[in-house]
Amino acid sequence: MPSYDSENVFAKILKGDIPSFKVFEDDLTYCFMDIMPRSNGHCLVIPKTPCRNLLDASPAQLAACIATANKIANAAMSAFSADGVTLQQFSEAAGGQEVFHLHFHILPRIEGKAMGPAGVMGDMAVIKENAEKLKAAL
Ligand code: AMP
Repeated sequence: MPSYDSENVFAKILKGDIPSFKVFEDDLTYCFMDIMPRSNGHCLVIPKTPCRNLLDASPAQLAACIATANKIANAAMSAFSADGVTLQQFSEAAGGQEVFHLHFHILPRIEGKAMGPAGVMGDMAVIKENAEKLKAAL
């Protein structure tokens, strides 16, 4: 497996080199909105320390991310009047991964509504508002 690239886009977000719509952070994890949302309220949970994905993550990194995902998923249920949540994690390009810093997708879901396509830029005003809704629900 290739080694961790400290110039990946999420590493740059953690360093503050590029902006993000922050939802939550604690000592070990950071949560921010996905700018190409596949459902309303789609956000990402990442560890603050480097690892590519599920394959090289430590149990501590995984546990911290899942604990934060649990918190965010419950907030998303109320913030977006969701009926459920889809949790996604892709490892390596063949697994569908595009950004090589471990991340968990949290996708609030509405009964009967399909997820949107990947790679479509969202409306930044709506994404910003959704970050505020999640923060208020936390
Ligand atoms: P994947 O690596 O396939 O699990 O997905 C990477 C995710 O990161 C995609 O859902 C992208 O929309 C999202 N993404 C890429 N760049 C940014 C960014 N600068 N801010 C927020 N989300 C991003």
